[in-house]
Amino acid sequence: GGEILRVENLTIHFPVRSGLLGPRQTVQAVNDVSFTIGRGETLGLVGESGCGKSTTGLAVIRRLRPTSGRIVFDGRDISTASRSALRPVRRNMQFVFQDPAESLNPRMTTHEIIAEPLRIHGRYDAAGPAKVAELMERCGLDPRWSGRLPHEFSGGQRQRIGIARALALDPSLLILDEPVSALDVSVQAQIVNLLVDLQRDLGLSYLFIAHDLAVVRHISHRVAVMYLGRIVEYGEKDQIYRSPRHPYTQALLSSVPAHTPAERNRPGRIKLTGDVPSPLDPPSGCHFHTRCPKAIDRCSHDDPALDLRGGRQLVACHLAEPGADHQTQGER
Ligand code: SF4
Ligand code: MG
Repeated sequence: GGEILRVENLTIHFPVRSGLLGPRQTVQAVNDVSFTIGRGETLGLVGESGCGKSTTGLAVIRRLRPTSGRIVFDGRDISTASRSALRPVRRNMQFVFQDPAESLNPRMTTHEIIAEPLRIHGRYDAAGPAKVAELMERCGLDPRWSGRLPHEFSGGQRQRIGIARALALDPSLLILDEPVSALDVSVQAQIVNLLVDLQRDLGLSYLFIAHDLAVVRHISHRVAVMYLGRIVEYGEKDQIYRSPRHPYTQALLSSVPAHTPAERNRPGRIKLTGDVPSPLDPPSGCHFHTRCPKAIDRCSHDDPALDLRGGRQLVACHLAEPGADHQTQGER
């Protein structure tokens, strides 16, 4: 039991300049994001592209340094740890990228790709070949294919290679950044099932990043929904899918089929219109108010906090505040 990861008030701002002499501006990529991941648990982190979910994942593995906030991995604050202090930590958390075609070196054999992390960390020894064969088998790849190059595999098989590589150093946490988004729908389920099996067999913890709620449904224990750099809803998976309370979550769920009778009663369909506003100049008040079909006057100037009073399902919306709990009525 216990926590493997705790992210507290993570904020990441990037300075940018539009053009050579343009004004300096700040991209507010991630704002005051907090969540935890338990051992053996999966947190689904969901939102449209540009919402800051990949940036959050990169900060967790400290490819990026937070502007402020804390990242505590396995009981240790790594928010400001130096490169050398991070080395042993990095072994224990690995990143799996969206597009295996881009993340695998096309000139390296499967064996070389999977063995690379072991070599980098000085752990490739006489047992190396057997270790690589075991990883391939675990990930559903025939070890006799170890001499093949990435282009000789399908997209799903390439992602299996990416996962095998990520497991080489026996990590405890995987950051999976849209690991199935580049794959055919039929292959997506196979990779998700593989990840579920690996989690059960190896006790792994996952931060599973996705742009839609359908993908993370089977694998997540809890779900956090992000919009424009903030978490707008966070809770147990079943609660989120049965009774989403934030209009943005309701909109994302409108395209996900209901699986249970309770889910068929969830708040009505919301169609999202318009693009995500620029994180260079986020809307005032509730960041979602420019697209929210339920917005009230107050929303354009009053920024709702992620409500910590509501127990385990946290929601940043004025309509979800205590005493304003009317949104599940009249919409069935
Ligand atoms: Fe919509 Fe207002 Fe709630 Fe924001 S605070 S999600 S604009 S109703
Ligand atoms: Mg991304």
